[in-house]
Amino acid sequence: MSAQILDGLKIRDEIFGELKAEIAKLSAQGIRPGLAAVLVGENPASQLYVKSKIAACEELGMASWLHTPVASVSTEYMLQLMKDLNEDDSVDGILVQLPLPAHIDSKRVLEAVDPAKDVDGFHPVSLGRLVSNRPGLVACTPAGCMQLLRRYKIPIESANAVVLGRSDIVGKPMALLLMHANATVTICHSKTRDLPDIVRQADIVVAAMGRAGYVQANWIRAGAAVIDVGTNRVTDAAEAEKLLENFPARLEKFRTKGNVLIGDVHPDAVFTAGAISPVPGGVGPMTITMLMSNTVKAAKLRRGKAAVARQ
Ligand code: NAP
Repeated sequence: MSAQILDGLKIRDEIFGELKAEIAKLSAQGIRPGLAAVLVGENPASQLYVKSKIAACEELGMASWLHTPVASVSTEYMLQLMKDLNEDDSVDGILVQLPLPAHIDSKRVLEAVDPAKDVDGFHPVSLGRLVSNRPGLVACTPAGCMQLLRRYKIPIESANAVVLGRSDIVGKPMALLLMHANATVTICHSKTRDLPDIVRQADIVVAAMGRAGYVQANWIRAGAAVIDVGTNRVTDAAEAEKLLENFPARLEKFRTKGNVLIGDVHPDAVFTAGAISPVPGGVGPMTITMLMSNTVKAAKLRRGKAAVARQ
């Protein structure tokens, strides 16, 4: 039997509908939430990401500004830009597209963002609020994973949750969100022993490792919910043939295109899991969705307008 698909596009549409209603309410009070995106240099992947974030703002009727300093700008220039955006009251959210060029001190730049406008949730103050379970802005990808679980009514309280990966932007905040939702959480990383046995105990598996198809289908307990954060572009034909053996249509597409997007979980897990987020179309669309949601949340929090619940 095939798992229930946790459809990120469907949940994005649902949340966009709710955000439009909230934005209309705010606009009746003379408030238009706005996002300032900062894109340094001309990295094509970053340009694409930022373009879709600005397009989402436009779709929702939010204000947006795009700052595009040349790749050679200094850390000091970036710090001044952050100061200007912090002081601009029409800006509710500041997004610094990563990675920044190597000569720029990314940590200093990210720490210069006013935590009230930290819609990426990367500032140490935002992380501190998350650790102590206080209202605040949460990193978009893990917040999106929680939305997928909640909106598909996957039981979280008392569940055994296993998070694969401990990065600051996905694994760690994900584990904290699950813990605050009363799951019993195990965090795994590259030095973890007996990974398959730990994953087999899980009611909920969140994979955020950056390893194509690494989590095998027979590691997943029958009926478990699987959130696959991984986005790995596979170009090797032998690897694609192995991963997509049971998915002839996807394999055919790979043969035409020469590449395919694969999560951290083996595609065959769809036959063992109870519910699974697909790659693409699962967590991916949720990340931009939560960026929009965080911008609206920041607009309200900054004006003391919301008792804002955690994701
Ligand atoms: P990251 O910073 O590279 O962290 C990877 C984590 O996985 C590390 O904690 C690492 O352990 C762990 N890991 C690596 N190999 C492992 C193994 N064999 N067994 C157990 N743990 C292992 O990556 P990230 O930024 O968190 O991103 C993870 C994945 O999610 C990537 O594929 C990325 O593209 C994707 N992603 C997707 C979205 C989206 O919107 N869909 C957003 C963000 C990230 P150590 O700490 O021991 O090194």
